[in-house]
Amino acid sequence: MGRLQDKVAVITGGASGIGKAAAQMFVKEGAQVVISDIDTRRGKKAAAALGDSAIFVEHNVAVEEDWERVVEATQEAFGGWDILLNNAGLGILKDIEEVSLEEWRFVHSVTLDGVFLGCKYAVQAMKETGGGSIVNLSSIAGLRGTPEMVAYGTSKGGVRMLTKTVALHCARKGYNIRCNSVHPSFIDTPMVEKMIMMSPDPDKMEKFVHTLAPLRRMGEAEEVAYMLVYLSSDESAFVTGTEMIIDGGITAR
Ligand code: NAD
Repeated sequence: MGRLQDKVAVITGGASGIGKAAAQMFVKEGAQVVISDIDTRRGKKAAAALGDSAIFVEHNVAVEEDWERVVEATQEAFGGWDILLNNAGLGILKDIEEVSLEEWRFVHSVTLDGVFLGCKYAVQAMKETGGGSIVNLSSIAGLRGTPEMVAYGTSKGGVRMLTKTVALHCARKGYNIRCNSVHPSFIDTPMVEKMIMMSPDPDKMEKFVHTLAPLRRMGEAEEVAYMLVYLSSDESAFVTGTEMIIDGGITAR
């Protein structure tokens, strides 16, 4: 028996990085997975590699109608919904003086509104079927100030507090739905690669991301996926409204 045997999971942004690693690990642990992503080409490929245990649904997490399609497709393919990983997110490397209102709104629409919509639709569906687990990808940027990425930091801070609010709401209502947030530091994924390339001094940035943590390296997507399996499984049945940090020791300072 796998740790997620026969559970049905929706993983947003599952075509790349942490979401893709989670989809692979979830299937190994016995889950059936809906990979949702705005990137159709990579999303289809990621789902195809997992055979009958996965499907792909094209999805912009910031668009409410898209969530309706994801819920329908999940029910149709696997007949239930137990786990939601609100993983899709993005940032723009701009500080408070550089960022425009349009860029601010765009980052929040995906990274915070997308998680809000996910929680809303998951609570609605899971309360009818006996419960479930929602795991929201925040960041250490949701715990500490990040002057170089203002909109990313505020949206991840919002994800942290949304998580606690949803957890307490579901507990109070007796829904048996848990909700937790995960807070990684730099993890070796295409997102960080893009951030390095877009920074004014990529060499300096590359050195920075590799040496910031006391453990003197970046994290791996699989290392985050282990935490996501734990929070999604019944092993964490008494864990809700909390924040789990995976940062090589950065926030211990
Ligand atoms: P990634 O860029 O490798 O993958 C993100 C995926 O989200 C991509 O497949 C992308 O197509 C998809 N996506 C983007 N906008 C979308 C939208 N509107 N709707 C649906 N899908 C969309 O990123 P990653 O590094 O794997 O990050 C995953 C999550 O972890 C993000 O929320 C990120 O903020 C968070 N995180 C990452 C790091 C890191 O260092 N990599 C650190 C802390 C937190």
